[in-house]
Amino acid sequence: MSATGEGFDPNRNSRAVSEVVELVSTLIRFDTSNTGDLATTKGERECAQWVADQLHQAGYVTEYVESGADGRGNVFARLEGADPSRGALMIHGHLDVVPAEASDWSVHPFSGAVRDGYVWGRGAIDMKDMVGMALAVARQFKLEGTVPPRDLVFAFLADEENGGKWGSQWLVDNRPDLFDGITEAVGEVGGFSLTVPRPDGTERRLYLVETAEKGLGWMRLRAKARAGHGSFLHEDNAVTILADAVARLGKHTFPLVLSDSVAAFLAAVAEETGLEFDPASPDIEGQLAKLGTISRIIGATLRDTANPTMLQAGYKANVIPQTAEAVVDCRVVPGRQAEFEREVDELIGPDVEREWITKLDSYETTFDGDLVEAMNNAVLAHDPRGRTVPYMLSGGTDAKAFARLGIRCFGFAPLQLPPELDFTALFHGVDERVPVEALEFGTRVLEHFLLHS
Ligand SMILES: [Zn+2]
Repeated sequence: MSATGEGFDPNRNSRAVSEVVELVSTLIRFDTSNTGDLATTKGERECAQWVADQLHQAGYVTEYVESGADGRGNVFARLEGADPSRGALMIHGHLDVVPAEASDWSVHPFSGAVRDGYVWGRGAIDMKDMVGMALAVARQFKLEGTVPPRDLVFAFLADEENGGKWGSQWLVDNRPDLFDGITEAVGEVGGFSLTVPRPDGTERRLYLVETAEKGLGWMRLRAKARAGHGSFLHEDNAVTILADAVARLGKHTFPLVLSDSVAAFLAAVAEETGLEFDPASPDIEGQLAKLGTISRIIGATLRDTANPTMLQAGYKANVIPQTAEAVVDCRVVPGRQAEFEREVDELIGPDVEREWITKLDSYETTFDGDLVEAMNNAVLAHDPRGRTVPYMLSGGTDAKAFARLGIRCFGFAPLQLPPELDFTALFHGVDERVPVEALEFGTRVLEHFLLHS
């Protein structure tokens, strides 16, 4: 079956569109909370096996893999395309979610409730929405005998919320064969709409495609000095030395560096809105604030950041401890790693040592070529007032692991969102939810995109 044939109605309720809400709701009911600790993380195996069952029922052969630790379940399925000589396209999503405190929520975070036009629950946005859409489209293609233009690999993964240590990173290091022949990939965080005002009073929907990610580094700082009695004169105090370094680092503003992705995003938004963005202005953050809450992400991609997040020292009120430690969450613009580390060393000084607990490189690709064209066409087919624009994510995704294999990665999990929804606040937030209409729209766009990629 081809969706490009005569009489194709882009808004028809395909099989995938009909079942996507139920799939997303069921996925949310698997509590796959990732605590970052192997002993307490749970649910991924059950969720992955359920995903594999859904694929089996549609006729797929699947491969279930545990990524280096018990229960860290991943599922892979391949659909052969018309031209096997072309590299495969991977559609990936993670099955784990960050934990949720049920008492803070309006609905139980693992209820998957469908209410008031939304599917509610932890993972509704990050990212069981995309997992459900990919699963729905994968099932439809197989059940209807659709042959896409190139091989498609559907990958459902563990441990993304812990940097992929027991997920994508482990798989890339230990099972690179799973990614044989894959040249490009789409996953989170991109494809969602941002509604911006036009100078003539109308509105325009931009669809943000992620083409770059800042590097992620969790850094431990340690000061070692002389232990002693808290009542004595004591100039060599590890707590003071560390606190000084942490304060200097936390208050520091790193230089503004405009990457190609951020420059292209700002140019496109300026063109659509008539707003001016002057990266050289000391008030660039204030200018970005006019874009609404997305400025939290965009503002963070203009420069490196180093936010202290943990402090630890001492064991008794009257004992000066020998060591004091801190953890700093560092996010580094592509191309800046060496310069960033040099600046950090200068700020913390010679008496504080540092080490990386986790370090994942930044990533950037260009916003051009056939796959980008296919994303653009798929969005336009379902939203003629839309426009795709590249942007850089301040956080990290599984794309960081796949980029190590030379795979060209994009964030493209399409969602058309109501302008008033504070989308960025839903990531890891309370009352995480996704509009039913956004899921249905996204499924149509994904289907169109995969049929023309
Ligand atoms: Zn995610």
